[in-house]
Amino acid sequence: MKGLAELGEFGLIDQIRARFPQPSAPELGIGDDAALLSPSAGSQVVVSTDLLAEGVHFDPGFGPARLLGRKSLAVNLSDIASMGAVPRWFFLSLAIPTGFPLETIEGFLDGLAEQAAEHNCILAGGDTCGSKGGLTVSVTIMGEQQPELILKRTGAQLDDEVWVSGTLGDSALGLKLLLEGTRLGGEHDCLLLRHLDPTPRCNLGLKLAESRLVSAMIDISDGLLADLGHIGEQSGCGAEILLGQLPLSPAFQACAVNQPVFPWHLVISGGEDYELCFTAPPCNHGAIQKISKTTGIPLTVVGKVTSSRQVQAILPDGTNFQPSASGYTHF
Ligand code: ADP
Ligand code: MG
Repeated sequence: MKGLAELGEFGLIDQIRARFPQPSAPELGIGDDAALLSPSAGSQVVVSTDLLAEGVHFDPGFGPARLLGRKSLAVNLSDIASMGAVPRWFFLSLAIPTGFPLETIEGFLDGLAEQAAEHNCILAGGDTCGSKGGLTVSVTIMGEQQPELILKRTGAQLDDEVWVSGTLGDSALGLKLLLEGTRLGGEHDCLLLRHLDPTPRCNLGLKLAESRLVSAMIDISDGLLADLGHIGEQSGCGAEILLGQLPLSPAFQACAVNQPVFPWHLVISGGEDYELCFTAPPCNHGAIQKISKTTGIPLTVVGKVTSSRQVQAILPDGTNFQPSASGYTHF
């Protein structure tokens, strides 16, 4: 098999193009100086970009490259989901170290192509260069939605209920296990996979937007406390979270009981849950529960919007929880 050096930049781009379905005329994808895309009439284009750097966002030793490919798009799909938009196109930029194994790149592209196909998202271009450091992957995603349906961080109202999808803390606990040396192929796979192969809540985000029941929404990438804090900052309010109501998976609970103290910090500040957090008036409660039924994704009320300008976390015994850090920040 050829290595990356023989393949070269343009050989690699050809391989990428061959793996991904391309947009059809009058649209234009990989191969020209720029892509040409046609959003649906009346839609606004929703754009987001994310950078994944080796050693910062991922450790190649933690799992197969295929899962890194899946995750590279999943984290971007989650941003589109949180706006209530439909994913349409994405761009892939790669900085690859000299001598990097071609089969690792191929595994990465396989996973990326799987995730793209699952969400009907078309690779429309990108950029490729060498790296003097580790592998760096940047994905820019574009989605679309009618402007009146798009859900922002602004819009939360006093006394709205605060909802979260799925379960929290699994990814952070999975990462903790990976850092301690646990690998795939054992009893903790479902926690490890929540970190290595997160599920973006695209269908749920879209259904919530179309329902018009929701006042503000965000995806939980930095931890519930930090991300709900962003809704608060932008909506001019705060929130109260009851830790005893937070949805925890059976796997999380089983593993957490073996820890010296219950790992609340992983649940509210661990990050990379890629669940949705949203606010909605209490009168919409029943209708939102119906969306949970039809999508098959658990939705749980975890607190309410307050006028305090802070997010307060209350322990099951009624005392305030004081986290040592409120989510991951760089620098
Ligand atoms: P330029 O020199 O203008 O940057 P390139 O030679 O880098 O153009 O890219 C040629 C074509 O290949 C463009 O359509 C670009 O979008 C596409 N492309 C380059 N790298 C990637 C990649 N990693 N993934 C997808 N498309 C890519
Ligand atoms: Mg280029």
